[in-house]
Amino acid sequence: MSSLTTDHDPAAGVPAAIRSFVDDEIVPYAGEWDRAERIPRDVLDRICELGLWAPFLPEAHGGAALPWTEVGRLHEEVGRGCSAVRSLLTVHTMVAGTVLRWGTDEQRARWLPLLARGEPLGAFCLSEPDSGSAADAAGTVAVPDGTGWRLTGTKTWITGGQVAGVLLVFARVQDAMSAFLVPADAPGVTVTPLGGMMGTPGSMLARIDLDRVPVDAQALIGPEGWAAGTVMTGALDLGRFSVASGSVGVVRACLDACVAYTARRRVRGAKLSELPLIRRKISDMVVAGRAGRLLCAEAGRLKDDDDPATIMASWIAKYYTSTAATAASADAVQIHGAHGFSPDYPVARYYRDARVAEVIEGSTELQQLTIADVAYQEARA
Ligand SMILES: Cc1cc2nc3c(=O)[nH]c(=O)nc-3n(C[C@H](O)[C@H](O)[C@H](O)COP(=O)(O)OP(=O)(O)OC[C@H]3O[C@@H](n4cnc5c(N)ncnc54)[C@H](O)[C@@H]3O)c2cc1C
Repeated sequence: MSSLTTDHDPAAGVPAAIRSFVDDEIVPYAGEWDRAERIPRDVLDRICELGLWAPFLPEAHGGAALPWTEVGRLHEEVGRGCSAVRSLLTVHTMVAGTVLRWGTDEQRARWLPLLARGEPLGAFCLSEPDSGSAADAAGTVAVPDGTGWRLTGTKTWITGGQVAGVLLVFARVQDAMSAFLVPADAPGVTVTPLGGMMGTPGSMLARIDLDRVPVDAQALIGPEGWAAGTVMTGALDLGRFSVASGSVGVVRACLDACVAYTARRRVRGAKLSELPLIRRKISDMVVAGRAGRLLCAEAGRLKDDDDPATIMASWIAKYYTSTAATAASADAVQIHGAHGFSPDYPVARYYRDARVAEVIEGSTELQQLTIADVAYQEARA
């Protein structure tokens, strides 16, 4: 099979068992989970059985040593079914990927076999009530206490925070950002569920308060005060890649829903599928899905090659696919007319979920600024 065929074919790189998991066990129930604001435990267990939590980990650590190109395809496939489930995969990937890349041998041996199974789930704790885009302004502090540190501060909008067992927490030691692995049941950790989110409510967000939470040297990822340009950048890069891939899945879901709906809905005797303005929207979805998949494939290949250019490729992939998912899902709601607003069709959920992807892991505006900055830097070089 040529690489071009592989890049374009949505089914390529996705085992049949995963496709049927999405078709049979996610798609029919995603609306229900959205309303319940919860992904049931047995679904999380099925993700474990299928080896989906961290398949990129080496086999020695319980993974399948899957290349990032294939991980992206899996996240696309899950995103086609449910962005809330994909969000849980995203943050778990950020935590497991961080331990793999920056953890000590001891941290890898302790955490990776567990993270490979999703037991515990990982949560990425960077945002705070007063700092989101400006992550370097985070105010959570880690104060040395003789044997380790005490963490104090508030993290919020934490995906999976209601169910996570290990938290990757960013905190300042004096003025420099450090990253710590904190068990969610450590003394001084308080988890408060955040309900009523407009998008991905099933991803079980929480606010996490840390009150003098004790952590020892084994909790610190990398040297003290070193996390900003390394751990944070690396984790967010994995997050962007996952969100980008999941957004391609949303575009595909919109396309599938709209092709099915327009083939049967009639207006003045004509099927919607026969109307040129509707067909234009459909063609935009086809092109966005294929272009997005190619951008994700490029970012994945660069990751597999350990090429630092993957960082920019992931920014570009995430910018393109998240905005494309917003456009596709807005068109999908429009095409469905009043049905698009009802819970009987999934497109309103796609729209709400797509909007999340434009805010997390670097908002659309930050991506626009970053991509343009690089264009000017390259022009000067
Ligand atoms: C569903 C959901 C899940 C999330 N999960 C997590 C998680 O697991 N872990 C975590 O740490 N955080 C998480 N977040 C938080 C997310 O990362 C932040 O919301 C995001 O970083 C934006 O920060 P903010 O909300 O504080 O917006 P702000 O930083 O206050 O920005 C507000 C607006 O201003 C824009 N803006 C900012 N700077 C500029 C600029 N220079 N020029 C132009 N416009 C600008 C932004 O793009 C945004 O539109 C989640 C958020 C949501 C909605």
